[in-house]
Amino acid sequence: MGLDDRNALATLRAAFTGPDSDEVIGRIFTCWFALDPEIRDLFGADMTDQRRTFGRVLDWLLGEFIAQRADEPVSLLAQLGRDHRKYGATKQHYETIAHALFATWAAELGELWTGPVEETARDVVNLIAGVMIGAADAEGGPAWWEGTVVELHRVSRDIAVVRLILDRPLDYQPGQYVNVQVPQVPRSWRYLSPAMPPDPEGRIEFHIRSVSGGMVSNAIVDETQIGDRWRISSAHGGLEVDRDGGDVLMVAGSTGLAPLRAIIMDLCRFGENPRVHLFFGGRYPCELYDLRTLWELAAANPWLSVTPVSEYNTDPPWAADYPDVAPPRGLHVRQKGLLPEVVSSYGGWGDRQILISGSRAMIAATREALIAKGAAAQRIQHDPV
Ligand SMILES: Cc1cc2nc3c(=O)[nH]c(=O)nc-3n(C[C@H](O)[C@H](O)[C@H](O)COP(=O)(O)OP(=O)(O)OC[C@H]3O[C@@H](n4cnc5c(N)ncnc54)[C@H](O)[C@@H]3O)c2cc1C
Repeated sequence: MGLDDRNALATLRAAFTGPDSDEVIGRIFTCWFALDPEIRDLFGADMTDQRRTFGRVLDWLLGEFIAQRADEPVSLLAQLGRDHRKYGATKQHYETIAHALFATWAAELGELWTGPVEETARDVVNLIAGVMIGAADAEGGPAWWEGTVVELHRVSRDIAVVRLILDRPLDYQPGQYVNVQVPQVPRSWRYLSPAMPPDPEGRIEFHIRSVSGGMVSNAIVDETQIGDRWRISSAHGGLEVDRDGGDVLMVAGSTGLAPLRAIIMDLCRFGENPRVHLFFGGRYPCELYDLRTLWELAAANPWLSVTPVSEYNTDPPWAADYPDVAPPRGLHVRQKGLLPEVVSSYGGWGDRQILISGSRAMIAATREALIAKGAAAQRIQHDPV
């Protein structure tokens, strides 16, 4: 039966779901590190994210197998296999984690670990490892790109703009995101979205906002230095504008501007485009850090309009320590309020392609507010949150 045995697959899935799923996933990693202690060095100090992601992916894969769907799981596993080359993953690592997963399943399931369940577990583990190893072996491109920080701008208290030149150009679609590792926090990769289209000379720009208690974002904003060497992995994501798909609404919260800015800059290559209306929001007016660039783009491209939005009307005292971001006259008047409320107060934008980028909460609230006003859910795009 193996992968066709839905009952066995459901039993395997149940072992990792429930209130103590994080602990069970933790036991897989403990078992893996016991089998090969050197593997621990491949990970950062805090493994909360890895455990959470591993649990989510395993749960999703088993759900797909139970539904007898294989296409998307195989494509995700292949992508993960290609991506894990940046961690230095070897065939031996796959074999030992497969062993750890198998052993943890057996221990967790106790008397439910029957012959058919064991057979299905073996097939699941072999499929996961086989696809990941195969895809990694077949990939001819580099596992990562290295680049040097050449410019650094602290544009607001919590926001930095970092420009790098990569040793070799990285190909990506404007609107995609990449995984980034900085020297201040080795082995902790975070997603960042390039804020400009790909450049044949290897120039690349990122906008980073430090989040409260955030390990990597604070290190980037507070400690980045010219000359730092960053490591960047290949691109993911599919935010895009269909130039034949009608007018566009873009909603960017803080550094969520980055991928939308890259798409807008790319559109500037064309004389004619669908109309694009961008709402760019922050808490204070002084946090609308890139309004000058947006003003320049809108001044030269009549298809683009930009509405600044801020939660508060006045700046805090610390704003005086950072550059003045107020643009020359020409953009729409700044609106006061939260992005979901302001954007949806204009209607549902039902005729538009809609791209939303920012924090998880802002994306969810904006999406909900627009759908409530009549926007079609299938016309709304955002990155995975
Ligand atoms: C597809 C994608 C693209 C992204 N692009 C960018 C980008 O271009 N610029 C950018 O600044 N960030 C971007 N991010 C967010 C970034 O990847 C990190 O999650 C963020 O910088 C926090 O990392 P950290 O190590 O500082 O926080 P962690 O140490 O991982 O987390 C610390 C705490 O902060 C919370 N937290 C994590 N992320 C956020 C967040 N985004 N907002 C609020 N709280 C958070 C966590 O829940 C946790 O409580 C992107 C994320 C995704 C998924």
